[in-house]
Amino acid sequence: MPISPDLHSHSTASDGCLAPAKLFQRAYEHGVRVLALTDHDTLEGLPEGRASALALGMDFIPGVEVSVTWNGGTIHIVGLGVDSDSDELNQGLAKLREFRDWRAEEIGRRLERSGYPGLFERARDLSNGRLISRTHFARALVASGHADSVAGVFRRFLVRGKPGHVAGEWASLEDAVAWIRAAGGQAVIAHPARYRMTRTRLRKLFAAFVDAGGIGLEVISGSHNRDETFTMAAHARDFGLLGSAGSDFHDPANPWIEMGRLPAMPGGVQPIWHDWELKGLHATAVH
Ligand code: AMP
Ligand code: MN
Ligand code: MN
Ligand code: MN
Repeated sequence: MPISPDLHSHSTASDGCLAPAKLFQRAYEHGVRVLALTDHDTLEGLPEGRASALALGMDFIPGVEVSVTWNGGTIHIVGLGVDSDSDELNQGLAKLREFRDWRAEEIGRRLERSGYPGLFERARDLSNGRLISRTHFARALVASGHADSVAGVFRRFLVRGKPGHVAGEWASLEDAVAWIRAAGGQAVIAHPARYRMTRTRLRKLFAAFVDAGGIGLEVISGSHNRDETFTMAAHARDFGLLGSAGSDFHDPANPWIEMGRLPAMPGGVQPIWHDWELKGLHATAVH
């Protein structure tokens, strides 16, 4: 069986645990031959990822995962096949990173006021001077003994109503899609089943996304169960969206799903890679 392309993954350029070269190496060892690197709000990992993919004979898909505020909540839009020299995309992402820098300090201040000091510094150290995500705070809280696991720490500290939550505005849906398109990329709604939205609200999002020029839906995600996959496949068919697939791999210790294990695209959904020229598409895993 050929292994599906994996079009969603993270490196140390954002909140992943592996440097880009290590990530591609691991993907290769798990049979993946087509991998997109889609770090949050940065293109910094792309040159190393590209070089590593080339050395391994893999297809490299330059990508990004853009943080968006839509209808008062945060959603993620993945851009695939983006040109990392695009001014429009780089300027847009730079604004998001500025907000991230401020937010990280504010999360630190709020945790400090709630009796958890020093976490901004710990999170910043864990990020190695790159952008700081809530994931870094989660790891810092676990490392300092305030929580047992990264999963539980979000619920206790980092979501609405909790001491380390900071509200704010990311990009608009329209801007995120426009930046991706200006960079020659294809825009995809990431992990649609993870948003806490009613079916009606979700379908409003899909309609607004299509209006903005978005073309893909992550039908297959490492964070979707079987039912969610089939629900999202039906939405993709209804809205004429192409199906994308990605593990959303961050951390070898805590994978949603291991790389190379994505299920096949459900019938009736056109894969977003249907017209891409890929050498790795028909490769079969050698173990
Ligand atoms: P940020 O973009 O800095 O707000 O951080 C969002 C990131 O936190 C996501 O990309 C996930 O990697 C991680 N995340 C969010 N919620 C959870 C959760 N419940 N468990 C584990 N990781 C999470
Ligand atoms: Mn993440
Ligand atoms: Mn995401
Ligand atoms: Mn992701």
